[in-house]
Order: sequence, then C-alpha cells, then structure tokens
Amino acid sequence: MKIADISQLKIGASLPSPKGVALALLEACRREDVTIHEITKLIQTDPALSGRLIQRANAANQGTRAISSVSEAISRVGLTAVKQLALGFSLIDQYRGGPCKGFNYQEFWSHSLLMAIAMHELGKMNQVSAPDELFACGLMTRIGCLALATIYPDRYTELIGKQAPNTPLSELEQQYLQTDHNELTAAMLINFGIPKIFVESAYHHEAPAESDASEGSRPYQIVYLLYMAKQIADFGIAQKSERNKRISELILLGGKIGLDTESFGTFIDQVMQEWQSWRNILKLSATELPPPFHKMINTSAPRQENVTDASSLRILVVEDDPSSLFLIEGLLSNTLGHTVFAASDGQQALSLSMEILPHIVITDWIMPAMNGLELTQSLRATDWGQNLYIIMLTSVEDEEEFVKAFDAGVDDYITKPINLRTFRTRLRAAWHYRKLQESWERDREQLKRFAAELALSNRKLEHYALTDVLTELPNRRAGLETLAKVWSIANRSGQLMAVMLIDIDHFKNINDSHGHAIGDKVLKEVAASIRDTARKGDAFCRIGGEEFLVVCQNGNADAKPVILFAERLRQHVKKQKITINEIHIQVSISIGVALKETSMKNEDHLVNAADKALYAAKKAGRDRVFLAREDEFINCSDK
Ligand code: GH3
Ligand code: MG
Ligand code: MG
Ligand code: MG
Repeated sequence: MKIADISQLKIGASLPSPKGVALALLEACRREDVTIHEITKLIQTDPALSGRLIQRANAANQGTRAISSVSEAISRVGLTAVKQLALGFSLIDQYRGGPCKGFNYQEFWSHSLLMAIAMHELGKMNQVSAPDELFACGLMTRIGCLALATIYPDRYTELIGKQAPNTPLSELEQQYLQTDHNELTAAMLINFGIPKIFVESAYHHEAPAESDASEGSRPYQIVYLLYMAKQIADFGIAQKSERNKRISELILLGGKIGLDTESFGTFIDQVMQEWQSWRNILKLSATELPPPFHKMINTSAPRQENVTDASSLRILVVEDDPSSLFLIEGLLSNTLGHTVFAASDGQQALSLSMEILPHIVITDWIMPAMNGLELTQSLRATDWGQNLYIIMLTSVEDEEEFVKAFDAGVDDYITKPINLRTFRTRLRAAWHYRKLQESWERDREQLKRFAAELALSNRKLEHYALTDVLTELPNRRAGLETLAKVWSIANRSGQLMAVMLIDIDHFKNINDSHGHAIGDKVLKEVAASIRDTARKGDAFCRIGGEEFLVVCQNGNADAKPVILFAERLRQHVKKQKITINEIHIQVSISIGVALKETSMKNEDHLVNAADKALYAAKKAGRDRVFLAREDEFINCSDK
C-alpha cells in the first residue's frame, strides 16, 4: 500500500493537529531517550487530560484496584497507548466545532468514540493487540473526514449535501477534492507516529476485502475489527428508522466472530452503555441510545398503512331483496371502490365463497333457504372461514338477537336502512382487521425465512470456523478438538491411539525459488494427497504452515499399520508430479509417528513425542518416517 506523504498533499498547514501538551507529548515520544518520568510530568501539566487518562485506565481494567495517578495509568495501559490516547483526547478538545457548516463535529466524535469502544471490547475477545491501542486506533480511524472538513469547509459542506445513500463518501471526495478521507487518515496517522499496521488497517477499514493482508494474519484481523467497529458505530448513531435495516447485518457479523444472537446482543448493549458514559466524560452531546438489542430484534419494522387504499378487498354481499342488493353493491363498488360479488341466499353465498375466498362477507339476516345466521355458522366451520370478517345486516335493534348473532361468529352489524357514512366506518374496521392479519402472516413468513437463513449461515459459519481456507482440510482448531476427543475415548476404553506429524521438507526453498503463490498451490496438492491416502477412520488437519497432523485410532493405531500408512504416504508424495504453470515441482515429506503409551499424561505428550520423532527424521536427512519409542527414535523407512 502506498501512503501519500503529508507534504505531497500540500495541505499540511491547516490539517488538524494536536496542540499544547499533546503536541509536546508527540514530540517527546519521537525521541528515543525519553523517560517515563518526563512523560508523566508532561501529562500532569494538563489536569483534564490527566483525569481522562486515569478514567480510561480504570475503565480498561475493571475489577482491579482503581488507580488515581498518571504514573499508575502509564504503567497500567503502557506508554504507547497513553501517547495515542492523549493524542485522540486532545484532538477531541480542539475540534468540537469548526467552520464546516455541513459537518456535524459532535456526531463525528461521537461516532469515532463508539468505534474506539467497540475496538476495545472486540480486542479483549481476540487479543490481537493491546486493547487500549485498539481504542486509540478506533478513535482516529476516521480523522481524515475531520481533516477534509477543516481544510475545505465550504466544498465539504457542498459535497455532504450531495451524498446519496449508496455512494461511498470517498468516491465523492475523490471527485470533488482529488483525495479522500482514508488517504488523509493514513497520511496523518503516519505523521503522528502511529504504527504502520494500524495505519494500513485504517486505510482499508471500509473495504477490508481490498486490503492485501493475508487471511488470519494480524493486519487482516485488525482491518476486520475496524470494519466491524464502524458497522457498530453506524448502528449507534443511526436514526430510529434506519436501525432495523442495520441490525440484521450486525447479527451476521456477530456470527462471524463466533457469537450467537444472544451473546452478541449482550455485547452490543454493553458497548452502548460504555459509549454513553464516555460521551459524558468527554462532554460530547449525546443522542438517544438504541433500545436494548433483544427488544429491537423482537419488534418488527413499522407497518406502512394506507387506509384509503382498499382496492384489494373482495367483498361478498348476500341479500334476497334485489333493490337493497343493488343499492349496497353500488355503494361498495362505485363509491368505495371494492371488488364486489353478490348472492341472493345463504346457500348460493356458501358455494360462491369457496370459489372467490372473500375478505369480507356482508349478509342479510332473514333470507330463504339458508339465513344469515346459518350462513355464518357454516362459514366459521371451515378453515378458510376463520379469518373472514362477517358483517350482519339487520332491520331491528334487539339485544337478544345481537347476542345470538355474535355467538354464531358475526364480527359486526349494520342496521338498515344503510347510509354511506356508517358503511364507510364499519368497512374501515373490517379493512383494518384484514391488514392486521396480512401483516401477521407476513411477519410469520419473515420469521420462518429468517430462522432458515440463520440456520444456514450458522452451518456455513461452523464450516468456515473449522476449515482451513487454503487447503480445505480441517484446520488446527478442528484437529485439536478431534485429538482431545480421541484421547479421552482412548483413555476411558483403553483403545489404541497414534498420531503422525507431517512436515514438508525444505518448503521454504519452494517459496524462495518460485514465489509464495506457487508455494500455496504445492501445499494444496500435498494436502490433497493426505486426504486421498488417509484410511477410513483417520482424522487429519493442517496444524500450521506446512505441517499436518493425522490422528489414528483403534486398529488403525497399531504400530505396524500406522508405519505402513506413513510410509505409503511418504512415497506417494515423493512420486507425486506437481506441475504449476509448466513448472515441475517435486517435494518430499518427513513424518514423526508416536503411539499412545501409558506413561503419557495427556494428548500434548503424545504430540510432543511425534514432534521429536519428526525432528529426528529431519536430522537424519529428511524424506523419512521416524517412530518414537520410549526415548528412542526408530527409522522406519527402508532407503
Ligand atoms: P524443513 O525441511 O526443515 O521443514 O525446512 P522448511 O523450509 O520446510 O521449514 P521452515 O520451518 O524453515 O519453513 C517453513 C516455510 O513454510 C516457511 C514459510 O514461509 C512457509 N509457509 C508456511 N505457511 C505457508 C503458506 O500458507 N503458504 C506458503 N506459500 N508458504 C508457507
Ligand atoms: Mg331479507
Ligand atoms: Mg518444512
Ligand atoms: Mg515446519
């Protein structure tokens, strides 16, 4: 990655830069002979900064004795972190507001602070770096935005006004200003003396896939942590209406770091609480916190209702009096715009209903053949009739009669003669009922789909978590799990067990002479050989770099078959013709074998023995199988 030098950007003069104590600190830390004592004294000249650092050190180490002095803070969080924190805090103090009208300075810092806290908490889980350094890195990852707002207040205001929801900000910045916030962040962080690994991660944090860090490496982990921290921060400052959209994305991300929805929810809530208290400490204006996570995922998105739109309603009108029927039909279809079907008695209505599945049935009470009450009862007796909305027409208002009607399953009644206003109101209730039902059905469908998607993505995640990306063999984690399982079975049942450690000979030379990419392909080929040669019941994995572990049990683990198998594998790999880009490459492997012995206390002892045997094989000239027997190593290859 090429990071532009700040002097090349020709804008150094007005870039945000720390003043006062933080500047003195920066300069002091660039000197190699700086002492902790000197740093302590410098910080102590700024009481506000001292206070915040002490609070930070306490927050980072909850559960231990609280500290109260700057020197303790330094010894607890480390000089590097103190320097970075002082820098971040002093920038917040100096740039709480500014000339760029379109730029919300408070929200900017609030967002950065949330990224910082998220980084700190994520860092505690995977220990990729000191949590306080991650905090500082999160705090400053978007400093380039502040810089652009500071250098170009007017043009940046204009540009923010033009931003469409789906265009990346950096694209617009490039268009307007021929640079973007990520470039500026990187240039500034380098200038501040922040370690390169953080600078590069900050540069790529919006599109981590574009970084060339190799999967699983430390830079890779940091860039993904930053990406995730940004998603969390975006969620934190999102408007209410936008939160639902962001939450499912967050849940998926949570899955990627191995947290189920519930623990991830707890994690997010904790981060938000911490954010709240840090916004107070830093006196940043606070917007409302999102509700607790579990509450959010249990409430569905707000419904969009349009009460005047009723065109989708199918209404069946049942009435034996032709003039009355004509009147109602006219009202419903011409005036209110529904799709109307008509029947002149209960029986006809019943058979028509089955055909058209109406949403609403409006029925007269007294009719020949089958009256309104009987019709209602028959409709309610069917499955699809449960959700119908039934309105009874009646000319008498008799309480006794109404009780009967409601008992039969009627939802509402309208008295004759009918007027348009009553009709309209009653139909609105019916329409509402219908909509509720539809959205309930939709929610149910959505839930089902969501559950299915979640199950699928959990399965995929589990697969990824246990599979090595390059060779597609089970990874170290999967291998060690199997090893522990087989060990405990063997221990309990007294069954045989053996392990083999396989290491490719002089693999470094392949990388050196053909390049890493070809090295990778060779690794894949050897992995494939192991998979193809392994016997039923053997478990194998890529335990690291160019090393593989095979776990054998039962009959497979007897000395003779294990050695035969190891030998077969060694010869197979040796004979294997690997051709990549017309280059022929031949490799050999060395194998250390160890059998479980009663003196071994745990599986580590077993693997250690195999490792020693492997070392002996290497020492004896490589391309060999060696067996560990008590403290001896036996050459099992006939060469
Ligand atoms: P020896 O016979 O003693 O095992 O020699 P070696 O060169 O194989 O052993 P060494 O441990 O010195 O080097 C292992 C090399 O494997 C170094 C490392 O760059 C390379 N390596 C580890 N993982 C990968 C990988 O994923 N891809 C590639 N291309 N190379 C890898
Ligand atoms: Mg009648
Ligand atoms: Mg090797
Ligand atoms: Mg090795």
